[in-house]
Amino acid sequence: MESLGNVKNTIEILQKYNFNFQKKFGQNFLIDKNILEKIVDAAQIEDSDCILEIGPGIGTMTQYLASQARSVIAVEIDKNLIPILQDTLSSYNNVKVLNEDILKVDINRIVEEENAGRPIKIVANLPYYITTPIIMQLFESHIALKSITVMVQKEVADRMQASPGSKDYGALSLAVQYYSEPEIITKVPASCFMPRPNVDSTVIRLTSHENPRLEAEEEAYLFALIRASFNQRRKTLVNGLANVSELGVSKDDVKTVLGKMGLPETVRGETFELERFIELSEYLREMKE
Ligand code: SAM
Repeated sequence: MESLGNVKNTIEILQKYNFNFQKKFGQNFLIDKNILEKIVDAAQIEDSDCILEIGPGIGTMTQYLASQARSVIAVEIDKNLIPILQDTLSSYNNVKVLNEDILKVDINRIVEEENAGRPIKIVANLPYYITTPIIMQLFESHIALKSITVMVQKEVADRMQASPGSKDYGALSLAVQYYSEPEIITKVPASCFMPRPNVDSTVIRLTSHENPRLEAEEEAYLFALIRASFNQRRKTLVNGLANVSELGVSKDDVKTVLGKMGLPETVRGETFELERFIELSEYLREMKE
């Protein structure tokens, strides 16, 4: 079949099935061949790879993925797209389409069944209304994962890659950088989609770190600390962390720990890099115990 990645072929297939875009599902389909090629190149697909695609739409990118990978699992929530995908992907025997909500499906089970538990790659033009929950769930569920190559809203990509001191730096930057190495691949103008989104987009690749840094319990405490620090962004850590029940520390405990770390009592979390949060987290856990 001819590539779907242009206006003419996309309109043709949408009309054939009388498809109506559903805003609630964040449907903005890619119609630019160059961008499709850039995303697939950035994912560095090998012929032994199992790819999970989130939200295949009418299958535009799925066709590229299927021609390079060993297998593709495509999870699509909109049941109206399923007959279209059966049509557009009919010449590929290595694609499985699941009509599921990515936030509800058991991805660990998919990895187990489809790739014998070996690390998969994720590639997607993500629905923007749930980008952050999807990314967080992928990391927090600790699935075997080589990389995530995704199109996201430009501001979200900026937050993922931000460093301490920048206005974009926050809990998302720290979570993404704890689990992976982010790299911005390219900016994408709204004209590359149908319909056009009201925002600019960016393709970003998150390459998973090989080994988890911390034990599960330490990791949970670290993220509770990070959340508490940025929930109360304008407060000093001494005021922001005390009385957060998950942390179990008092103002005096926080003051003592900052003293041990050689930091002033007026310090705020937004200036801390990941290593410093890990150190603070270890000290606070000791106070708690
Ligand atoms: N991959 C296609 C492309 O690039 O042209 C479509 C991308 S579009 C931005 C997002 C896709 O995600 C849509 O097909 C939408 O129906 C699907 N989607 C939205 N929410 C979803 C969810 N919770 N689980 C799975 N798919 C979802």
